[in-house]
Amino acid sequence: MVSKKLNTGINNVRNVSRYIFGQGAIQELGDILSMHRGPMDSQVIFLVDNYFATNSHAIGSLPVEHSDQLIYVSTEDEPTTEFIDQLIQEITSNGRSKACAIVGIGGGITLDTAKAISNLLTNGGRASDYQGWDLVKVPGVYKVGIPTLSGTGAEATRTCVMTNQENGIKLGMNSDYTVFDQLILDPDLTKTVPRDQYFYSGMDAWIHCIEALSGSYRNPVGDSYSIQSIALCREVFNSENMMSDDNRAKLMVASYLGGCAIATSYVGVVHPFSAGLSVVLDIHHCVANCIAMMAMESYYPQHYHEFLGFIEKSKVRIPNSICSGLTNAQFVALYQATIVHEKPLINALGPEFKNTLTEIHVRELFERM
Ligand code: ZN
Repeated sequence: MVSKKLNTGINNVRNVSRYIFGQGAIQELGDILSMHRGPMDSQVIFLVDNYFATNSHAIGSLPVEHSDQLIYVSTEDEPTTEFIDQLIQEITSNGRSKACAIVGIGGGITLDTAKAISNLLTNGGRASDYQGWDLVKVPGVYKVGIPTLSGTGAEATRTCVMTNQENGIKLGMNSDYTVFDQLILDPDLTKTVPRDQYFYSGMDAWIHCIEALSGSYRNPVGDSYSIQSIALCREVFNSENMMSDDNRAKLMVASYLGGCAIATSYVGVVHPFSAGLSVVLDIHHCVANCIAMMAMESYYPQHYHEFLGFIEKSKVRIPNSICSGLTNAQFVALYQATIVHEKPLINALGPEFKNTLTEIHVRELFERM
C-alpha cells in the first residue's frame, strides 16, 4: 500500500564525528589509528578498492602493521549481502586479535563495504539481518572512511547499500551506527580517477540535490546542504577543467554535503529509474543515474538542459540505447524495480504517482535510455 505521508521532520541526526580535509590529509591516518590500537585489540582492517592494488602510488604507503589485514575489494559488482558475509568469514577465520579499527579507502562500494563489515563484526549474524531501519543493535568497530571518488555521499550517510540476491532487495543498514567515526577527505586521492567515472559519480551528488529541491517534502537543513552542493557542482562542471586541483577539492566537499542533504530529505524520479537499471541490468549506480537523467526532460526540464550542458563541457559520453532489444519480461522487471521506490516517487509526484507512472509510460521512458 502506498503511504500517504512522508516524514519531513528532522530526526535526531547523527553526522560523521570528525573529518580532516585537505591535500595530503591521508598522511594523518597513521597517527589517527595509533590512538585506537590497544594491546589486546591492535588489529586494523584495511578495505581498499582493488584499483589501488596495482596503483598504490595514488594513495601512498598505508600505515599497515604486522597485526593488520589489508584486503582489496573488487568494485566490479556493487556489494551483495552474500559478498559481505563471505568477507566477514575471511576476516574472522584466521584467529587474529580483535579489530580496533576498520579503514575503507575507495569509492561508494568500498566505503559501504567498510560500514557493513564494521557493524557485522560487533553485532554478529548475517548482513541481510540488518537490511532495513535501525536494526543494528550495538556500535560497530571504529571506522575511518577515505573516499577516492566524489559524488555518492557514502562518506556522509547512515546507510550502506547492499543487494540481497535471494529476494532481490537492494537495501542498506540504515542506522546511526553505520555513520563513519572519522573521515579523511584528501582531494589528491581523486587525481587518477578516469574522466568519465569522475563525471558520473560527481553527477550523483548533483542529482541527489536537484531531486531533493524539486520535491514537495522539504526542510531548511536539507535545502541548505542541497543548495550549496549544487553551487559547487556547477562551478566544477561548468569550468574548462573539471578535474583541476581546485575542482577536485570542491567536488569532494559537494559530495559530502550532498550525502548530508539526502540524509534529511528524499530523492525523486531519477533514482528509482536508476535503481531499476541497476537491479535488472546490473548497471552501476552513478552511470545509471546519468542514463536515467537522459529520459527526464518532462520531469526536470530545466535540470535536463543543464545536464546536457555539463556533458557538452566535459565531453563525456553517456551510454545510450541500453534498453533497445530488451524482452517484455525485462521491461516488466524494470517497471517493478522502479515503482517499488515509493518514498522518492511520492516526494516527486505525490501519493497518486502510479496514475502518472503507468506501466506503459515507464516503459516508454526506459526505451529512451
Ligand atoms: Zn545516488
